[in-house]
Amino acid sequence: MTIDTSRHPCFSASAKHKFGRVHLPVAPKCNISCNFCNRKFDCANESRPGVTSTVLSPAQSAAYLSKVKALVECPITVVGIAGPGDPFANAEETMETLRLVRESDPDIILCIASNGLNLEPYVEELAELKTSHVTVTVNAVDPKIGAQIYRWVRPQPNRVYRGEEGAKYLLDCQLASINALKRCGITVKINTIVMPGVNDHHITEITQVMADLGVDVQNCMALVPVEGTPFENLEAPEPKLMMEIRKDIRQWLPQMSHCARCRADAVGLLGEANSDLVQEALIETAT
Ligand code: SF4
Ligand code: SF4
Repeated sequence: MTIDTSRHPCFSASAKHKFGRVHLPVAPKCNISCNFCNRKFDCANESRPGVTSTVLSPAQSAAYLSKVKALVECPITVVGIAGPGDPFANAEETMETLRLVRESDPDIILCIASNGLNLEPYVEELAELKTSHVTVTVNAVDPKIGAQIYRWVRPQPNRVYRGEEGAKYLLDCQLASINALKRCGITVKINTIVMPGVNDHHITEITQVMADLGVDVQNCMALVPVEGTPFENLEAPEPKLMMEIRKDIRQWLPQMSHCARCRADAVGLLGEANSDLVQEALIETAT
């Protein structure tokens, strides 16, 4: 697959001010429970993954994409699916959305962000649809540490794993997914959230394992403690600690430095809030 990262504002710092992305919020459910996540909270001023004003069906999202392309000034070069839950906990909706977008635009960059639990079965079809960029969030490569981060892992509606068993199940799925993605020539980014006292001493190990798998880039982010979550009282890591961590792990993997931690319905240039017109189009399409 030919990968054009020069038009992807998240993967290319020089594309950041020129090209925009649209996140289509078609994936409301999640199949794991992270101790730092609260998707119930929605607020127009809130900008972080997991937050969206509404959820769209695949057909609605295709209609919304056409409206958005006409409303924003920058060229939209990327369509991403990043929640508000996990794309592959809503695999039918996610894959249908990708098919519809690809049919309507053969050149647009397709991008997905997932926890990796149910990703591997879809990798071949993702490649057939020319999905060129996939992000997997990996916060631990040791189930003992993962067990402190994930409350439960539910690969199927009637199968729930907890503790180390759950963390190991998730890790095995993540490793298999990343291997499959790299076999298909897809660009893989790893998101890693640094949680003081939980995994801050473990980041180097994560990066080394990911580099061995052929991962392309890592996005190391500071925990933002969110009210109403088990990690609400954890301290966010100091900027100095983040700098030291990034400086250390850069020797194994290139580090992304300009992630804007976008909402699941973000539109336009990175770091810019959605315009009122875009928000109106989103709500209007959903109703
Ligand atoms: Fe929240 Fe994402 Fe974790 Fe799911 S995978 S619980 S949406 S942070
Ligand atoms: Fe890009 Fe980060 Fe925003 Fe995803 S969350 S679209 S990687 S800037």
